[in-house]
Formats: sequence, C-alpha cells, structure tokens
Amino acid sequence: MTREVGLDLVFRARRAVTPDGEAARAVGVRDGSIVAVEPYDVPLTASREVGLGDDVVLLPGLVDTHVHVNEPGRTAWEGFATATRAAAAGGVTTIVDMPLNSVPPTTTVEALRVKRAAAEGSVHVDVGFWGGAVPGNLGELRGLHEAGVHGFKCFLLPSGVDEFGHLTPGELAAVLPVLRDVGALLVVHAEDAGAIDRAPAAGGRRYADFLASRPRGAENLAIAQVIELARAAGARVHVVHLSSSDALPMIASARRDGVAVSAETCPHYLTFAAEEVPDGATQYKCCPPIREAANRELLWEGLRSGVLDCVVSDHSPCTPELKRLETGDFGAAWGGIASLQLGLPAVWTQARARGFGLADVVRWTAERPAALAGLGGKGRIAPGADADLVAFAPDEAVVVDPARLHHRHPVTPYAGLPLTGAVRSTWLRGVEVYTEGEIVGEPRGRLLPGGAT
Ligand SMILES: [Zn+2]
Repeated sequence: MTREVGLDLVFRARRAVTPDGEAARAVGVRDGSIVAVEPYDVPLTASREVGLGDDVVLLPGLVDTHVHVNEPGRTAWEGFATATRAAAAGGVTTIVDMPLNSVPPTTTVEALRVKRAAAEGSVHVDVGFWGGAVPGNLGELRGLHEAGVHGFKCFLLPSGVDEFGHLTPGELAAVLPVLRDVGALLVVHAEDAGAIDRAPAAGGRRYADFLASRPRGAENLAIAQVIELARAAGARVHVVHLSSSDALPMIASARRDGVAVSAETCPHYLTFAAEEVPDGATQYKCCPPIREAANRELLWEGLRSGVLDCVVSDHSPCTPELKRLETGDFGAAWGGIASLQLGLPAVWTQARARGFGLADVVRWTAERPAALAGLGGKGRIAPGADADLVAFAPDEAVVVDPARLHHRHPVTPYAGLPLTGAVRSTWLRGVEVYTEGEIVGEPRGRLLPGGAT
C-alpha cells in the first residue's frame, strides 16, 4: 500500500467506467495523475476526498479529436477560450484542433507557432493540434511532425476556405509515403471532388436538394481511393466524419487485409435523419450531410461491430449570419454543426435507446480518440493516466437550451432537443474546471505535444 502515500485526492464512485468495465471504484490522484484504481471500500487516504452521489457515474474526460477552433483569423466564428469552456462544460477534457478555418491554417511550422501563441493561456482544457497536408507543403510535413502535431488532415475536394487547398489523388499518393516514413497519421475528409462536381448543385431551401448534391457515392468513391492508396503506401489513414454507411464494408474488408484504416462518425449523424430536417433549417447543414434514418441505423451497427472506432464532434461553427438562417438557402449557408458541449449527452441518449452502455460511449468518445491521436495518458481511468474526470448523471432529463451553451454562437440543430444525461462536474488533472453550469477558475489547460504515433 505504499503507493498510496501522499495522495492528493481520492474520488469514490458507486459507478465508475474503467477499461475493465463499470464498477464501484476509489480513484487515487497524485500530482494530477491517477495512481490507484481500487475497489470502492479500499482505505485510500488523501488530503481531500470527493464522494460522488449515487445518481452519477465517474467517466474519463472525453477526447474530441475533431474540433475547429478557428483562432486566429476567424475568431468571430469560435475561439480557444469559448471552445474550451464549452468543452469543459461538455465533459471534454482534451480537444485536438483542426488545421483549417484559422488564418493561417496549420500547414507550416511557423503557422503552428502562431496558433499555439494564440491559444497559450486561454484554454480551459488540454489542446492538441492537427497539421494540414495541402498542395505544395510536402516539405513542411516532417517539420510539423517534429514540432508536435498529432497527425495531418487533408481534403480531397475544396475545403470551403481558399487558404486550405485540397489534394488531387496524385498529391495524396505523394503525401502518404512521407507520413509513413515519419510514422504520422493522415486523417482525410473523404468526398470525391469529381463526383460532387457531377452531382446537382446545392441551392435553395429544400433539404432533399442539398442531400442530392452530396451523394453517398462521392464518399464511397473517395474512401475507396484512400484505402487503396494507403494499402499501396503502407501508410496509416483515418476517415473523418463518415456519413455514408455504404463505406463500412469496404473499411472492414481493408482491415481484414491488414490496411491501417480507421474511421469516426459524429453525434449529428447518429442523432438526426434527413427525412426530419425541415426545409430552410441550415443549422443542420454539414458536409458530408446528415443522411436518411436507415443510414443512421447502419452507422449504429458500424459502432456495434467495431468498424467505426470513434465518435467525435466535428464542432465547426461560424457566425449566425453565415448560416443564412433568414433565407434558409442550403447552397449559400456555411456547412458545419456546433456541438462540442453536447456530444456526450447526445450520443448517450441515442446509445442507450439502442441497448449500449456507458462503457461503449467511453470507448468511442475517449479511449479510441485518445489512441488515434497518440495520447497515451488520456481517455481512461487507469493508473498512469491524467486525472481527467467527469461526473455524469446518466438518467437526468435535459432540454438543450442554447442560452446555456458556452460556444461563441448558440446556433445548433440540438436547440430544444430533449436529451438524457447531464455533465455535473469536470476535472482536468485532478482540478475541477466545471461544475453545475459554471466554469471554475482560470484557464489551466495545456498545449499538448503530439503523440508518438
Ligand atoms: Zn471538420
């Protein structure tokens, strides 16, 4: 028992989710790290003890590897302070920021320095960074990797912002061996540029027209191409925000062959259905789009079978004006859904209705995303991990009130939606950063060096 000497803090929870499943646990913390996970009644002694009520479950803090913070450059859309407050309030203790929509985009070592400087001192949770792979920056990739990005993001069609170009198939084929050689991951927005060009143009208020402008085939084609180029290069790839369930068998097949491909989906694809999106409701616009209810159920089956690894937010807000809510024109509106604060209750609401448990949700939203980004000390309640913890009330009924969101802008398709589950408190390295609706204390998040991938 000598390892318990000098504990700063002990959490006692009748229900805690650890890699071994859900059980009554005592969790000992020293210097911000978990040093003991024991049965509930083991007499760990510490200077402070946090006893959790019977109505809450202790979870590891979520790791959201798909967040567009947009600062610097488009800080009017979102920023490090507001995004990380929302994260803390949503039980997310680590975010990994996407390289685009900020200006400059994170495609050079210098741009990473600029972004880190913008974030320094203002983050309420830990923040890591993806780099970008764009036309012409092949020579920057090794330097960005060494400077600590968690991997690289690329697009296969126009990204929506001019300063972040997309890769042609030839350019993608050139990038993959470079990343393989340094051991870095490539995460891909997989929609095929040609297929989207050939589809009907998006425009007007009808959601069905928008859906037809981003067909499943465009995703399927791009994912097939990514898989085959990864197979040829022996590189590691990850499909972000997978929406087309048609692609799941291809991913499963490639994995059986030993191709290092993984995939994530997002809470909105698991919650909403195209048939229910009102015309003109551009707060639902994202790319690839929210598809039909039958597709949604197949995504859930993908989680059940393990073909889908992660559920992360793709939090991608903009100013309310850019959502064009007054005209409801899906062609003109910015594509992106704001949900960083809502991911845990949104996913839990749908998961439990389909017979999943909190251990499943933790695997998709914490353990697997942490592994994806090479964050060995995150995403699990286990000795050696950071004491990033969440007290979650899984039976509490809530209705999403935009006024309670810490996002810079409250526009979200979840407004008014009844959900089950509420984050009561969040701890970052053993220090409470959020409780009962309030952010606690000064920003104490850290900027993370990249993982060894
Ligand atoms: Zn995104």
